[in-house]
Amino acid sequence: MSKSKPRIGVLALQGAFEAHASRLRSLGADVILVRKPEQLAGLDGLVIPGGESTTFLKHLERGGFFDALQQFVRETPTFGTCAGTILLATGVHNPAQRSLAAMDITVERNAYGRQNESHILETETTLPGGPLEMVYIRAPRITETGPEVSTLAERNGSPTLVRQGHLLAATFHPELSDDPRVHQLFLDMVRAARQLT
Ligand code: GLN
Repeated sequence: MSKSKPRIGVLALQGAFEAHASRLRSLGADVILVRKPEQLAGLDGLVIPGGESTTFLKHLERGGFFDALQQFVRETPTFGTCAGTILLATGVHNPAQRSLAAMDITVERNAYGRQNESHILETETTLPGGPLEMVYIRAPRITETGPEVSTLAERNGSPTLVRQGHLLAATFHPELSDDPRVHQLFLDMVRAARQLT
């Protein structure tokens, strides 16, 4: 296995990318802020941050970025948070919109209130180390999960942290809490995938 630092891209077209970048750096990753499709080459993993999924789609629809990203997420570990989860989902409602359709989940956008109703909860998860703080900002709700999706955390019976093979998705913003466990899980997934190649 290569002992070099994992190269993790953070999609930096808009939204909350800087907090992801500094968390990943503090956990030992080399971080590349991705603004062009060519920058996907050579990455070991990618974070698609929160923001506004419709705005992401507008940026992605230029210069073949959408198609390049769709191909990338089929094969390479990718972690979506909030708007990133909406982009990864196969089904998107409220309203329906285009997505990368990489993960077998259906989401309802803006299910947990308006911007000024953003809030923080502490919830048990399957991660070791006790309850996890979860920051929700106009978050989507995962309404359906396919058979290959495992649920690592829930809120009132709806999954909030899910994994399907090399893909991880959270409806909350782990980069805005001090707890590094969700990013650490993603880096563990990246390291495990690198051992296979
Ligand atoms: N409401 C946003 C959307 O639908 C997501 C919000 C977020 O990423 N914090 O794209």
